[in-house]
Parts: sequence; C-alpha cells; structure tokens
Amino acid sequence: LLGLMQTGWKLAIPSIIDYAARWHSEQEVICRTPEGPIVVSTYADLRQRALLCSMALKSLGIREGSMVATLAWNTTRHLEAWFGIMGLGACCHTVNPRLSDKDIRFIINDAQDCVILSDITFAAQLERILPDCPAVKSVVFLTDRQHMPQKCNLLCQVLCYEELLDGQISGPPFHWVDVDENAACGLCYTSGTTGNPKGVLYSHRSNYLHAMVAVQPDNWCMGSSSTCLAVVPMFHANAWGTVFAAPLVGAKLVLPGPYLDGESIYNLMQSFNVTLSVGVPTVWMNLLDYMERFEVRFKSLKMVCIGGAAAPRSMIDTFEKKYGVDVRHLWGMTELSPLGTVCGVKAAIAGRPQEYILANKVKQGRPHNLIDMRIVDDSGRVLAHDGKTVGNLQVKGPCVVREYFKIGKPAVDSEGWFTTGDVCSIDKLGHMAVTDRAKDVVKSGGEWISTIEIENLAMGHHTVAEAAVIAIPSPKWGERPLLLVVLKPHIQQEGEHETIKEELYKHLEGRIAKYAMPDDIVFVPEIPHNATGKVSKLVLRDMFKEYKPP
Ligand code: ADP
Repeated sequence: LLGLMQTGWKLAIPSIIDYAARWHSEQEVICRTPEGPIVVSTYADLRQRALLCSMALKSLGIREGSMVATLAWNTTRHLEAWFGIMGLGACCHTVNPRLSDKDIRFIINDAQDCVILSDITFAAQLERILPDCPAVKSVVFLTDRQHMPQKCNLLCQVLCYEELLDGQISGPPFHWVDVDENAACGLCYTSGTTGNPKGVLYSHRSNYLHAMVAVQPDNWCMGSSSTCLAVVPMFHANAWGTVFAAPLVGAKLVLPGPYLDGESIYNLMQSFNVTLSVGVPTVWMNLLDYMERFEVRFKSLKMVCIGGAAAPRSMIDTFEKKYGVDVRHLWGMTELSPLGTVCGVKAAIAGRPQEYILANKVKQGRPHNLIDMRIVDDSGRVLAHDGKTVGNLQVKGPCVVREYFKIGKPAVDSEGWFTTGDVCSIDKLGHMAVTDRAKDVVKSGGEWISTIEIENLAMGHHTVAEAAVIAIPSPKWGERPLLLVVLKPHIQQEGEHETIKEELYKHLEGRIAKYAMPDDIVFVPEIPHNATGKVSKLVLRDMFKEYKPP
C-alpha cells in the first residue's frame, strides 16, 4: 500500500536557496572578499545572482552533467556560483588550491573540467597548471573588471565574472533545470596521502539530507537566529555542509574569504556577532593563541565545532572553561559528506561533573541518524561497544560513498559497509573514539600505541604549541613512538630543552602505558600540515626515517 503524499518534491540543492530567498530574504550573507572589503548581501540577492550565474555558464556551453571547477575561498561569489552550477544540473568540482600543482592537474584532468571559476589569488597557480589541462576552455575570475589579474597568460578564454553576470541581466527569465535528486551536483577529491586523489561524487539528495542532519540540535544546533562563520573551506568536503545548512534554516552566514589567521577570524566573530563556527584544530589553535596574547574574549560565540583531526583536550578545556563556549567535537570524512559523529552531551551524562563531561568531549561522538557504524577486527568479526575494544570503523548511510568517481568498482563491501581506515572504540552510550588512523598507529611488539592519545596529553603541557607522534623503525619492537614537539613561541626563545624534555616525560608518566612512552622527544620549529590542515605524518615519517633515538 503506497502512501498518498506528494512525491514530486525533489531534494534538490537549488530548492535550499529558493527557500532562503523566499522566507528569509532579508537574512544577511557577509563576506570578507579576496579584494579586501567586507560585503554584506542577503539570501534574496544571492539567489538572484546565482540565477544570473547559471545563465552565464549556459552561455559558455555548460549543460546538465557538465563539470565546472571552482578554485576559490569561502566567499559569496563562490557560493552563488555553487547554486548557479548545481541549478543548471551541472556538477561543481571544488578544487583545493593547497594541493600540489601535480595533484591539481590530475584532478582537473580526471574530472574533465571545462570551465574554472577562480579567485584572483590563484592566477599564477593556474598559469602553471593549465597548459597541461586541455579540457579547460574558459577561466572566469570571480571579480570585477578593476581587479582582474594583469598579464595572465592562461592559454584559454579568460573572463570577468561580474561582466559575465551583467551581460545576463536583460536575458529571458531562467529557471533551475529540473534534475533527478540522485543526479551528481558536487565532486570533491580526498587528499590522497597515498596514490592519486580519489573523487567523491555527491548527489543533490545526499547533500540535502546531510544539511538537514547537520542543523539538528545534537549536531550544530543551527536555526534562523544563529550566525554561522564557515571557517572550514568550501573546497574541504563542501565546507562540511555549513553553506547548505545556513540557508536551509535561514541562519546568517559569515564567509571569511582567504583570511583565516587568528586576528581576522576573531574580528569577524566580534563584528558580526557570530554564534557558531566550524573548522579544523589548527585554525582554533591560531585563534586561541591570538586571544591569549591580546587578552580578549568572545562577546557572542556560543558553540565551536572542531573536526577533521582530533581536538586536543587542552583546546576543549580552553574554549569551555576560559571562554564559556560549548565545544562539539566532530568526526567525518570526505566520503561521508562529511559528518559521521558529533560529540554533544546526551541526557545520560548531562548531570555529571564538568571534568567528566569535558573528558567525554575528547571522544569523537555519536553517529547522527543518517549513519550506522560498527567496529570489526581484521577478519571482519563485529566487536563489542564497550568503550575499550578497538577495531576498524565501518559506516553506511545515504550520505556515504558507494563508489569513487571513475574507479568503476564498489568502495563498500557486499552489505554496503564502507571501511573508514580509522581505528576506534565505541562505548555503551554510543560515543565513538578514534585511537588512530590505521596507517598512523604505532605497532610496537604486540601492542598498538595510539598516537592521538600521546599527542593529546603532550598538548596539555604548558610549553607545547603542537605535538605529533610518529612510528620510527625499531629492530627489537618493529616500531616505536617518537614525539615531535613545537614549543610555544616564548618558550622557544627562553626554554632549556633538556629540562622541558624531562618535564614532558614526567607529564606523560602514569597517564599512558609504559610501553607507549616515546623513545625520544624532538623539538622542531614547525610541523608540516597537508592540504586540509591535518598534520602530515607521511612527510614526518619520511623526515625521521633514519632517526636513531639516543
Ligand atoms: P581530507 O584529508 O581529504 O580532508 P578527510 O577530511 O576525508 O580527508 O579525512 C578524514 C579523516 O580525518 C578521518 O578518516 C580521520 O582519520 C580524520 N579525522 C576527521 N575528524 C577527526 C577527529 N575529530 N578526530 C580524529 N581524526 C579525525
């Protein structure tokens, strides 16, 4: 027996901006532009310009199913281009400009992008890359005539976005192309730490469902009275869906452009009464460092969502205890659209002492209602959710990848489980905790040593700005942990390394198993990060492959 409710309503991405422009037309979208000034517009403006963008792209030959790349920061123009591309039934390939030239060339060619919408900041990069990307016919710089890059030789048609849009104003009215909700609307490549990057091809439906989940109270708790600063870049797994979630509920949206340093983020938060922000730990590290140096406080920030890499306990404590900001630790992957778990406080622990609750927030959290997860051992046997047993995390759900772009074979097993590559435990209350990335875990003798646990503890020491643990080869144990530490700037200048090293060992003693004690602690001026801001352990392992502890 079929229900008798309407079935023609599609979960299509343009309907998100239609809703926002119709029912939250006055709501502001604020953007710090790459050209410098802060520009304030509304959802009504954004939709209007997205329609013009669709028409402009159509005039460049873009059709349903075409691939259009963006190489751009979080800006209003970038967002209206997303809706413009998706509203035409085309697919928006967000290129991460922090990837190497080689990787960018690979993904542009793999996707067969024919038009690139780029911020002016990337003109030189495009000059290097495009001679080897024959499918690209046009580059549109997301700016006005006055700011167009000079002397830019791209060997293809180069256009000015504002001029293109102006040219459409007197054109016939345009309506979004009516596509299947399962049609592709976005393509995002994973960083590809080993081998070439792999493409995850999102659909309208998967992104729409993901946005509906993201705004829920136990996740980002976003509504029309929220002001969301989307710090995580739009080229990093769709800004984790923030830029779909905000118009979906009519929240005010603040976009930082290329300015992601502590001072710029702080100023935006204060000037526009930001209540919620979402990003990776390195960005928050810089923000907290700025706030400590200048002894300033937040006036409106209520919640910060930290994900993409483990949020250290010290960071969670500072936000919560010093600044009264609710931390939501989250875990996800590009392959999951990307949200998998969020660590909100559930009723069963809400009444516990603050220390207990904060310790729990170090865990990556509970699955949302559109994802299922389990841990299995190496033979695929399902393991207990007892908070202690550790295994390979697998997930499934309507926003989880089924197959990578152009790979031609399933990315999941016969029951639809996707193996994440993360080693985790799940406790009785459903909180998942990541012990490690399977390829980062230190295998010493018969024991597995969690690098995240040691890093987390080290970062709780007053001298440490950032820490990373890697495995170094050991003839006796197979692998042993090496702790690399970046000291806080004032300690770097004044501190005595041997004394700090002793202090750090004392700090770890009793908090981790004896066999997990690092064989050595090495002070380094900086720790390399990859294109999405995560510690690049591959580079570190290579740097220290010959290292012999004393
Ligand atoms: P990319 O490097 O392309 O951004 P992803 O964002 O998809 O790739 O990376 C996903 C991986 O990031 C996860 O499998 C996990 O190892 C790690 N990760 C994400 N969030 C967290 C977290 N809160 N704690 C620990 N690891 C995390």
